[in-house]
Amino acid sequence: MRIAELYARPGLTISFEFFPPKSDEAETVLFTGTLPALKRLGPSFVSVTYGAGGSTRDKTLRMVERIRTELALEAMAHVTCVGASRETMTEILDEARRRLIGNILALRGDPPRGQTHFLPAADGFAYAVDLIRFIKERYSFCIGAACYPEGHVECPDKTLDWDRTAAKVEAGAEFLISQLFYDVQDFLTMRSYLHKRGVNVPIVPGILPFLSAEQIRRFTALCGAKLPPSVQAGIERYAHDDESVRLFGIEVCTRLCQELLAAGVPGLHFYCLNRYPSVAQIMYNLGLVADGALLPGHTAYGTG
Ligand code: FAD
Repeated sequence: MRIAELYARPGLTISFEFFPPKSDEAETVLFTGTLPALKRLGPSFVSVTYGAGGSTRDKTLRMVERIRTELALEAMAHVTCVGASRETMTEILDEARRRLIGNILALRGDPPRGQTHFLPAADGFAYAVDLIRFIKERYSFCIGAACYPEGHVECPDKTLDWDRTAAKVEAGAEFLISQLFYDVQDFLTMRSYLHKRGVNVPIVPGILPFLSAEQIRRFTALCGAKLPPSVQAGIERYAHDDESVRLFGIEVCTRLCQELLAAGVPGLHFYCLNRYPSVAQIMYNLGLVADGALLPGHTAYGTG
């Protein structure tokens, strides 16, 4: 089903994001443990990331196909422009179509490690908007794109970045999923700017329940997102103990989601990092999962 149609349905659209595991063993755990457990939380769809430099290209498409056929769950493939000429991109998209994948999150991707600036491949795409146009002209995929509540890290002016986000919608993106953020006001300011620019597709917040102090410091440094002082202070307070940081992450993300739901967002997209416990607890705290038996302590998947 087209994801735009899922967002058009009444009610909240919950989605979970995964990355393709490196080993076959980890993939087995994902398919036999984590994914079935997460499916019981009732997501409308899941999405599978595309590794840096296109490194997981085959795995991403294969995982999306497996999730759709084996778990009967709608799944979206992320695709980036990194290292891909138009010819390569055509092969990737043809392959996605052959596997009956109907939804693509079209991204530019980050510069490969060691490079400070994004350099398009020969005969490739410089920006996500170019990839979106390319897909729109040739395929019937439902296309999503990324948006950045604090502006994209490479763009000196966040409103300029949001104008470019609007251009992605004008080019054919049918929904937007945001980068992680921890201050609800950043998301709401971006959303009202985009609405004023005439963007009327679903704008969905991306939520990252953090797992450790080291991880959240690394992620926010990479994408340029800030940690509000109270969140920063909590992380530093518990920094010596990953489990305390994880529990603090549940508290922070529950509050953030409550504020977002009060502001009428159409859905929540969880960066679940192939883990179950934090997302399950946040959904329970929000009243989105009624059954306490689905909480980590009550399942075989408690350690995610
Ligand atoms: P763009 O929209 O192309 O923007 C990139 C930069 O170019 C911005 O600074 C923008 O302001 C600027 N820009 C855009 N258009 C123009 C123009 N016409 N002229 C000048 N400047 C312009 N990365 C992965 O590698 N794999 C993934 O699976 C993945 N999944 C993601 C999922 C989500 C929900 C999000 C939010 C991000 C994801 N990313 C992923 C990260 C993403 O690839 C990076 O943030 C990347 O740096 C930007 O991608 P984009 O599609 O937003 O690029």
